[in-house]
Amino acid sequence: MKPAPFAYERPRDLDAALSMLAASNGSAKIIAGGQSLGPMLNLRLVQPELIIDISGLTELKRADVSGGELVLGALVTHADIEDGRTADVTRGAMRAVAANIAYRAVRNRGTIGGSLSHADPAADWISALAALGARMTLRSCAGARTMTIEAFVVGALESALQAGEIVESIHVPTRSASAHWGYAKSCRKTGEFAHAIGAVLIDPAAATARVVIGAIDTAPIVLTDAAGLFGGRIAADYKERFDAGIADAVLAKAGIDDVVQRHIHVGVLKRAVQEAAA
Ligand SMILES: Cc1cc2nc3c(=O)[nH]c(=O)nc-3n(C[C@H](O)[C@H](O)[C@H](O)COP(=O)(O)OP(=O)(O)OC[C@H]3O[C@@H](n4cnc5c(N)ncnc54)[C@H](O)[C@@H]3O)c2cc1C
Repeated sequence: MKPAPFAYERPRDLDAALSMLAASNGSAKIIAGGQSLGPMLNLRLVQPELIIDISGLTELKRADVSGGELVLGALVTHADIEDGRTADVTRGAMRAVAANIAYRAVRNRGTIGGSLSHADPAADWISALAALGARMTLRSCAGARTMTIEAFVVGALESALQAGEIVESIHVPTRSASAHWGYAKSCRKTGEFAHAIGAVLIDPAAATARVVIGAIDTAPIVLTDAAGLFGGRIAADYKERFDAGIADAVLAKAGIDDVVQRHIHVGVLKRAVQEAAA
């Protein structure tokens, strides 16, 4: 199928893009890499009157380390991260996640801001960046606001973006030298969206753990204090202390009734914990 007709604008700078978005009164759609919006337009799942193409906005292509965090513009592509064109404050964690998103052609065009904005439950960044403790800045003509990834993703394909707002940047904290990272996903074949994701950032020295169970039917489950999954405390023996029964109960409480699905999610999370401890 072909998209329904739409007008097209390619603003020169972020202010111009925000003004166009504000003037459209909700009838416009931003396009970044087009990897999700393109198919949705073709299938006529969305029929905007105006497409605002932000792919030329240099303000959204920054990648600097400042104040102990990496600030990535929304237009940084998965391939930019995979290829190391951005600084790596996560000691390889983001690079490995980026390298396993879809296929290279998708990674060349797909952007980190587009992926978060689309809020597909099966997408990688919403889970990985929530586990890494990242935040995002949203900008509109009225100003900017910052929130955590877990506050931003409110449901399947649903985010906290309000009319007139654009994702401007993503702020990733530096991973401490003692923090262990594990990321695992289950896909039917390489390059496909996951049907289970486990992401963990465990710091035995600081006795902290962030755990994310993703690719469920809604927003990922984000446990910012996950000691309960490890017998109530985080220590060097966390791999042995991982409690699959508690993880299963967390999934059941989140409304996942299918035992087989829960089993797959728990298995994938266990793999992430094992990877962190390896
Ligand atoms: C075949 C295929 C396989 C894929 N597999 C995976 C996978 O395994 N894992 C994975 O994580 N992803 C996967 N993807 C998704 C891909 O990684 C892209 O990141 C994703 O499509 C969105 O990024 P984009 O820049 O292309 O956004 P677009 O398609 O341009 O936009 C997506 C949505 O976000 C909005 N938007 C975009 N940028 C902004 C912004 N800065 N501010 C506000 N709103 C914005 C748009 O209006 C639109 O609603 C796959 C895509 C394809 C086509």
